[in-house]
Amino acid sequence: MGVGERFERQARNEALFREVNERIAEIGEQAQAWSPDGIVEFMCECGEEGGCGERVRVPLDVYERVRQQDDRFVVRPGHETLEIEHAVEWTDDYVVVDKIAAVEPLVADDPRGAPSS
Ligand SMILES: [Zn+2]
Repeated sequence: MGVGERFERQARNEALFREVNERIAEIGEQAQAWSPDGIVEFMCECGEEGGCGERVRVPLDVYERVRQQDDRFVVRPGHETLEIEHAVEWTDDYVVVDKIAAVEPLVADDPRGAPSS
């Protein structure tokens, strides 16, 4: 069962931005002075065509919690794609989304090998 080429591509894009954010998280952990309040500016993981390029402010501990599951991503409010994910946590700064089952295989190559929900 597929979700269509467009959404498959989008899901892969999201996985790509996750890799970028993993680097940002590493830097954030090493440079606390850079984020004294523990909030780091990550790339929005919405996976829009080529990436929306917008930033999303997420506390490092929240980011770490999102990464515990390989089918969860953080995006800017309003950047959710309801066809392939649903929101599980909302704030004014970020939304945590959980991938629907049909696209989980596309994002399951998490660099940390975390289990999906
Ligand atoms: Zn976005």
